[in-house]
Amino acid sequence: MRTDSTTDDVLRVRGLTVEYEGVAAVSEVDLTVARGEVVALLGPSGSGKSTLLHAVAGFRSPSAGEIWLHGRLVAAPGHAVPPERRDVGVVFQNYALWPHLSVVDTVAYPARRRGTGRTSARAEALLILRLLDIARLADRRPAELSGGEQQRVGLARALARRAALSVFDEPTAHLDTHVRGLFLEELRARQRDSGTAAVYATHDAQEALGLADRVVLLDAGRVVQLGSPEQVYAEPVDLWAATLTGPASMLTTRVARADAEHCTLDVAGTEVRVACKSPELSDPSVRRLLVRPEWARLGGALPGRLRAVWYRGPHTDHLVETPVGDVLIRVSGAVSGRQVGEAVSWSLDRTWALAGPDGPPPSAQPPLSSAASAGWSEPPRR
Ligand code: ADP
Ligand code: MG
Repeated sequence: MRTDSTTDDVLRVRGLTVEYEGVAAVSEVDLTVARGEVVALLGPSGSGKSTLLHAVAGFRSPSAGEIWLHGRLVAAPGHAVPPERRDVGVVFQNYALWPHLSVVDTVAYPARRRGTGRTSARAEALLILRLLDIARLADRRPAELSGGEQQRVGLARALARRAALSVFDEPTAHLDTHVRGLFLEELRARQRDSGTAAVYATHDAQEALGLADRVVLLDAGRVVQLGSPEQVYAEPVDLWAATLTGPASMLTTRVARADAEHCTLDVAGTEVRVACKSPELSDPSVRRLLVRPEWARLGGALPGRLRAVWYRGPHTDHLVETPVGDVLIRVSGAVSGRQVGEAVSWSLDRTWALAGPDGPPPSAQPPLSSAASAGWSEPPRR
């Protein structure tokens, strides 16, 4: 058995490729997860999230690469430690509950296995059930639960498990917003308190950014970007990553001057100085600039016209047509009184210059309205 006692990493994945009948679903993935860390896998449907988690848990074998858990090699071509000997807590989308066990006994089971007495194991289970707002279901069996309730019981059992590493495969997909919030809060608190680690797959950017210490952007089985939530949101490596991680408007404009922290843009003859970063910004040049909805404001020196308004509860989104592209501007609360079609002024606080060759001049760009509103619930294809 190969071991490496020098590491504090709970999980190390090296050059991992997993194939289905010769077609790679995960390609050359490198990833480490430290003690106490929550790493989110964020990618559209089919990007390989489930396959990667199945490989870590031991249900799929790699065709290339290695998986190390707690400094022990558990998977490589021709070598596989079975799932029950990996100490990985698993919550998959349709995770089966034992039909004969009541809810409270299901959630008490992990503590019983650790040797805790029946009374305190059940007390601990009830505490978790209360946290997830399902204590009233304690005496029911799986057949007496709705799909969403079964999922909550599966999550409660996962929280009770206290495995050194847990993998979650879109576990909140069928949960109400309220329960989802309760679960994510509890998951975070437990990871912090116990030092256990988690890998959490989701296609929901808000969930990934809000939950994780680090986020892995996956596309077609490959890692496109790996960074803190702030990095992948504010400094995406390309247009695809920008649209996957949140609402993204793209402006095409000339950068007149740039230094490390700011750049001066020429927006239809008006120069504006904004916070602006890019790994390779040279001036003067025409660039594609990412604008997040909270990086721009209504009111200011720049001209525009209101194309659409969407009320979204806590905030209202305004799509503004400008000489350099459509920009989505988020204003908190409900904003009334502005009519679609009217002239509005706006200003820009911050942008991120996307890497890559200089874009064409603004006049050659197609309308960008769809890019501005897309990407939040339905990640795009590359
Ligand atoms: P995700 O969880 O991100 O939606 P998956 O890991 O389920 O992605 O799938 C990644 C790719 O592998 C997809 O192209 C999918 O069609 C393919 N795939 C998944 N499971 C199988 C399978 N059992 N047999 C063949 N191909 C599969
Ligand atoms: Mg999946």
